[in-house]
Parts: sequence; C-alpha cells; structure tokens
Amino acid sequence: MTDRQGIVMVYTGNGKGKTTSALGLALRASGHGEKIMMVQFRKSDPTYGEIQAIRKFLPTMTVVQSERSRFRGKGGFDPEDFADAANVFGIGRDALLSGEYDLVIFDEINFAIYNDFVTVTDVLEMLKARPKHVNVVLTGRYAADAIMEAADLVSEVRAVKHHFEAGIKAQQGVEF
Ligand code: ATP
Ligand code: MG
Repeated sequence: MTDRQGIVMVYTGNGKGKTTSALGLALRASGHGEKIMMVQFRKSDPTYGEIQAIRKFLPTMTVVQSERSRFRGKGGFDPEDFADAANVFGIGRDALLSGEYDLVIFDEINFAIYNDFVTVTDVLEMLKARPKHVNVVLTGRYAADAIMEAADLVSEVRAVKHHFEAGIKAQQGVEF
C-alpha cells in the first residue's frame, strides 16, 4: 500500500482509552492484511490480554515490549531505564523508516518523552524522515506541543470519571 498518504495520529489526555484506541486501529488495519508494528514503552508483561490476542489472532502484527515494567516502586530512574527506552524507540524507528510496515504504533511514547526517556527532536526527525505511506500512532499522556503540531490528527481523551476513583482496581479484560 505505497500510494497512500500516511497519517500521524496522537492519542493523548488523562482519560482511559488511548492504548485501547491504538489497538482498535490495529485490529481494523489487520483486517485488511496490513503489516503492523507496535512498540511499548515501560510495558513488559506478555500476559496482557491484548498481547495474547495479537499473538494468537493477528498474524500480521508484531509487538515489542520493553524490558522494564511500569511499576518499579519509588525512586528515580536509573541508566538502564533510559537504555531500555532507547532500545524500544530504536526498534520502532527502524520499523517505521524501513517502510515495510503499514502501521507503526509507539505506545506510551508521549509519556516517555515527558519523562525525558526520548527526545522530541528525535521523534520529529523520525516523523520527517518516514516513508509517506506509513500510518503512525503515538499514545500517552502529556503529549508535547511540538509533537501535536507535527501530527495530522490529535485526539485527547478526557477523564470525566474513572472507576479507579471509586476504589475499583485494575481488572482483567478492562485494564490488562
Ligand atoms: P487503556 O490502556 O485502558 O486504553 P490508556 O492508554 O488511555 O488506557 P494510560 O495513561 O496508558 O491509559 O494508563 C493506563 C491505565 O491507567 C489504564 O489501565 C487505565 O484504566 C488507567 N487510567 C486511565 N485513566 C485514568 C484515570 N483518569 N484515573 C485513574 N486511572 C486511569
Ligand atoms: Mg496507555
């Protein structure tokens, strides 16, 4: 599918539904046989429902998770956290620049940028250099202004209410 104009999409905001939107788009694209890469920053659990489903049911989609997981207790980040994020970014960037994928998803990259794991400059350079037919999704809270400016589509999910506030913990099938 090299004749189309790829779209850069940002899913940001403080409400629930960013990563699941990206996965919904992947589902849609996979139905057309599109080749998909999703890299995930600070998610290392292969038992998440979506990861199991992709591996079972979406043969054209590849997922690469980080080494480091989301919850690491209190305290600052260590050098390995930065190396891990750089590795994840490199895999996603290589996939995007190769032109071999129709859709490349960088899950939680906005939050990675916010935490200085990845630089805005590196992301902007990658977007500029990308083969024009590739669709790109960048998810995560606190998307940088420059990233939103560079994107073709920005959707902000606003938390009106979240069950977490009522004490309902993360649930299988809803959160993971
Ligand atoms: P999902 O993966 O369910 O689409 P998300 O990608 O929009 O969520 P993230 O910022 O990546 O949200 O946070 C992931 C987790 O945090 C989700 O399990 C979600 O339920 C929870 N979460 C999202 N928004 C809120 C909120 N406003 N308050 C508390 N927890 C939240
Ligand atoms: Mg998310």
